[in-house]
Amino acid sequence: MKILHITPEIAPWSKAGGLGDATSALAKNLAALGHEVRVATPLYGSVPGREQMGTVLDSLKVDVGGDPAKAACRVRSVDLAPTAQVWFIEHDDYYGAREIYPAREDTAERAAFFGRAALDACLQLGWIPDVIHCHDWTTGLIPVLLNTTLKSSPLGGCATVLSIHNLQHQGLLSRRILPFLRLPEWLFKPEELECLGGVNFLKGGILHANRIITVSATYAQEILTPAFGFGLQDVVLRRQAHLDGILNGVDLDEWDAQKDKHLAKNFSAQDLAGKRACKVDLQKQFKLADDSQAPLVGVISRLWDQKGLDLAVQALPKFLRTGRLQFVLLGSGDSWLEQEFRRLADNFPGRVGIRIGYDQALSHRIEAGCDFFLMPSRFEPCGLNQMYSMAYGTLPIVRATGGLADTVRHWNSTTQQGTGIVFQHADVGAVEWAIEQALALYARPEDFISAQKQAMREEFSWRKSAQAHVACYEKALQQR
Ligand code: ADP
Repeated sequence: MKILHITPEIAPWSKAGGLGDATSALAKNLAALGHEVRVATPLYGSVPGREQMGTVLDSLKVDVGGDPAKAACRVRSVDLAPTAQVWFIEHDDYYGAREIYPAREDTAERAAFFGRAALDACLQLGWIPDVIHCHDWTTGLIPVLLNTTLKSSPLGGCATVLSIHNLQHQGLLSRRILPFLRLPEWLFKPEELECLGGVNFLKGGILHANRIITVSATYAQEILTPAFGFGLQDVVLRRQAHLDGILNGVDLDEWDAQKDKHLAKNFSAQDLAGKRACKVDLQKQFKLADDSQAPLVGVISRLWDQKGLDLAVQALPKFLRTGRLQFVLLGSGDSWLEQEFRRLADNFPGRVGIRIGYDQALSHRIEAGCDFFLMPSRFEPCGLNQMYSMAYGTLPIVRATGGLADTVRHWNSTTQQGTGIVFQHADVGAVEWAIEQALALYARPEDFISAQKQAMREEFSWRKSAQAHVACYEKALQQR
């Protein structure tokens, strides 16, 4: 198949969270299955090496309204795999700044432009995909375009698939986007794109894509309910028959404890000795006491309400006071929560290490050096860190939601089966309970090592995920 992905993030060039990891690994694995893949994405100011990139189209006229002087772009390219190429949409007015999601007045046009540019690049090159796979809200109006304005163009027969990586972010913006994208005004009604007086990008995608994917089976069920639907649950319900849950995977080029270059020492399920060296290395880096009795619990996360880390910051002092664990965190987000974690480090020197910021190398060392990894998320569409943790023998402590529920098996001391600690409720008491369970497991070294080995042997393969995507593309093609 010829498959075009349209995405605002692709690792390693641009990544704000799991979306960047997912699009990159999916494109590579689809190519490995023999498909021809293109990934269209903005060329942000933070992407290095643009001068070394190839040029697909030097000047592409993009069919949008607004200022005609802003309606052209360049399309640069980089090979991701022998049959997979990234198309970078270069337009410095829109994407020249370093941030992926800056707060700007022209957010709607900026989100819409690169998708429309990707379609115009296909038309200009005569490269007509079988499937157009859109990712998250910025690309939500592409399936709408293909069902209306572009219906009788050569792209009108393409099957469309929308992946929802996070339903919370919907792109509720001004209706001025309709004339900008040359979309008909009749779409501005509640049964279509209208929502609270604006145009809802993601709603458009959900209603118009041939198929919809969410990134885990449990999240596909959760978003049908008011608690997780963020107001779009009824819209998703209308399309439930066309909804699939497909789990992301672990990119072994990036996350392999036996080969990872960031680690003090490599290790495997057969030989865990190197993991001890990784823990000592991490304790040194964060100036923690060399305490081998206390487990080291880690977090790498955006510090947002979704992630439930406000619960963690309340639960942890009880355990830190009695010296029963050590804690490290890498992340950034809400400033009040950053402040709370800084205060935790001040209150427990030698037991808590906090790094506010984004640091890829350090994220690998935390995954490898910790004994447990905490994810008390209120909702988690898929979650990647719990899978990276398991691959590195670090047992996840997770709330049973979305992809966390689908990937972590709660340790059962009777059957001696399990890969982590799973709890149900998003409250401080539940987090405390889960940490108690983790401490009890750590206190039984044989059980702890058995759980570590089971976790490391879990297979979260992108190949399997890519095959499930192909099956979904086939359904989309039949339904087009
Ligand atoms: P989300 O996409 O909701 O942020 P995921 O668990 O799906 O959550 O993916 C997060 C990705 O971003 C993981 O690869 C994680 O390691 C990475 N990440 C998050 N915060 C940081 C940080 N501060 N430094 C380095 N990597 C981070």
